[in-house]
Amino acid sequence: MITFNVHHIAHNSKIYGPSNRDVIWFKGCHIRCKGCINPQLWSFDKENEMKLIDVLNNVEANDITLLGGEPLDQEYLLELIVELKKRDIGIILFTGYSYKELTGRKLQTVKLCDVVISEPFDINKKDDSLYLRGSSNQILTFNTNRYQHSDFLEKTEYELVINDTLEFRGRKNISFIEELLK
Ligand code: SF4
Repeated sequence: MITFNVHHIAHNSKIYGPSNRDVIWFKGCHIRCKGCINPQLWSFDKENEMKLIDVLNNVEANDITLLGGEPLDQEYLLELIVELKKRDIGIILFTGYSYKELTGRKLQTVKLCDVVISEPFDINKKDDSLYLRGSSNQILTFNTNRYQHSDFLEKTEYELVINDTLEFRGRKNISFIEELLK
């Protein structure tokens, strides 16, 4: 059965790329970069195992960002991407793998994404001024013209979302603020 190890799905986000997006955080990462801000997502222990159809049914926006953990370490990410493209969903994929070293299904998968933000986080090249990137070695690859470079100049780091609950999100380490809101 096609399933995914999902940590969290968020809706109505504006800080993980242009447009109002859905965001999926997958769980599990083989890369384990020194200084990663999400080490709690390294483990492959099942947390919230979701079937492909259930993930798709959770997609509300026309644009989505996939991150983690390491999305490409999900065995069936290619199948999910194919289904998202059939629905004309714009996809931004974060991966800690080096784009030029990808082969096989992983390479097939990234090539289907509109934008890929790749390369492992390098703590020696950490740069907090970069939009959507933690270190200067990380690169954006545009595989389609759905998004433009100018879409990736936004600097907003945090957002407060009022759904049925109050949710505070950030692209940097905001665990101290999350603790305050608990
Ligand atoms: S690839 Fe991403 S999630 Fe994995 S260790 Fe590196 S920064 Fe963390």
